[in-house]
Amino acid sequence: MKKTIDDINVQGKRVLVRCDFNVPLDKETGAITDTTRIVESLPTIKKLINDGGRIILCSHLGKAKGEPDPKLSLRPVAEKLSELLGKEVKFADDDTVVGENAKRIASELNDGEVMLLQNTRYRAGEEACEDEFSQELASLAEVFVNDAFGTAHRAHASNVGVTKFLPNPVVGYLMEKEVKFLGDAVDNPVRPFVAILGGLKVKDKIKVIDNLLEKVDTLIIGGAMAYTFLKAKGYEVGQSVVDEEKIDFAKDMMAKAEAKGVKLLLPIDTVVAKEFAADAEHMTVESDNMPADYQGLDIGEKTVELFRSELVNAKTVIWNGPMGVFEFPEFAKGTLEIAKTLADIDATTIIGGGDSASAVNNLGFGDKMSHISTGGGASLEFLEGEELPALKVVENK
Ligand code: AMP
Repeated sequence: MKKTIDDINVQGKRVLVRCDFNVPLDKETGAITDTTRIVESLPTIKKLINDGGRIILCSHLGKAKGEPDPKLSLRPVAEKLSELLGKEVKFADDDTVVGENAKRIASELNDGEVMLLQNTRYRAGEEACEDEFSQELASLAEVFVNDAFGTAHRAHASNVGVTKFLPNPVVGYLMEKEVKFLGDAVDNPVRPFVAILGGLKVKDKIKVIDNLLEKVDTLIIGGAMAYTFLKAKGYEVGQSVVDEEKIDFAKDMMAKAEAKGVKLLLPIDTVVAKEFAADAEHMTVESDNMPADYQGLDIGEKTVELFRSELVNAKTVIWNGPMGVFEFPEFAKGTLEIAKTLADIDATTIIGGGDSASAVNNLGFGDKMSHISTGGGASLEFLEGEELPALKVVENK
């Protein structure tokens, strides 16, 4: 267990808190379209307020490229946060992030008051993890708290660099919760333990597949990833997406699963389409016999039944990656059925961020899952089995 905000005394101290306020924005209006990440940060902020800390929040937002970008200002987040907390959140509107406003507001904070810095990615030193920016951030506070799981797989100035100058960092409640759910599932799962992987590319999930095969009882593979495995079995997959370079890897993983006694399930039927389009002509065929001029865009009904029959007995399930092109309603059925199944079963269900999290939330099953991770990339890297850089710098209790 990492040291948390329960292990320190922040009364009267200035506390720099790295949050994950990287919220989705409406492309036209710039409005926040999903406040989940802000809501998830509230328990930590409230605890620090109650304990009399002087709270300096920071975060990145979007892909600001090391320079100010008014479309990616954190001002709307400050406003939303203020509304959710029922308390003023002072916004330091400095393009340099740690500028004159930030320094003044930070020095004038009273116990229990809250401020937010501008988007840390306005500075090139953020992603480059430069000492200069790390030190500027650190100079604002006496204590550092990291509550941003979404960036924990990256060593940047605001989550790792800053700890060089503000030692003895601790994690917040969101980070603690993420690590507990993902960590318990991987290291100490109630069995049967089933992992479901989907999405686009095998190459992004190589280490995850390899590591999970050491841990799970059953590995279910759907989405475009499955076609590389089906092709490795010698099946005709038509125009489906295949990672040609990973066919040997897929063969190795199927052999590894067999050697370890892990059940590896692949789609037995597939919804194939004439083209990659929402209204494409489509039909369902057996997975070992896809027509040469069609491509697989979803799992079929028999596959849903096969996966469901395994999931109803599971006690721990981790899911990362959609079962098909869920952005097209006609090809979202497989993803929807898996989400429904997870909502119904009596198991610890963990959704590993990104697309599967939005699928589950958009379909209205969010509150039926045990845990929906706020970090897609971070949860995947967590499942690779190596400690994330931002966690490595925090001492254990
Ligand atoms: P990832 O980022 O690897 O989790 O992949 C998510 C993306 O995979 C989504 O945008 C899906 O539309 C896409 N995807 C899932 N299944 C398929 C498929 N059968 N063919 C093409 N794309 C797919």
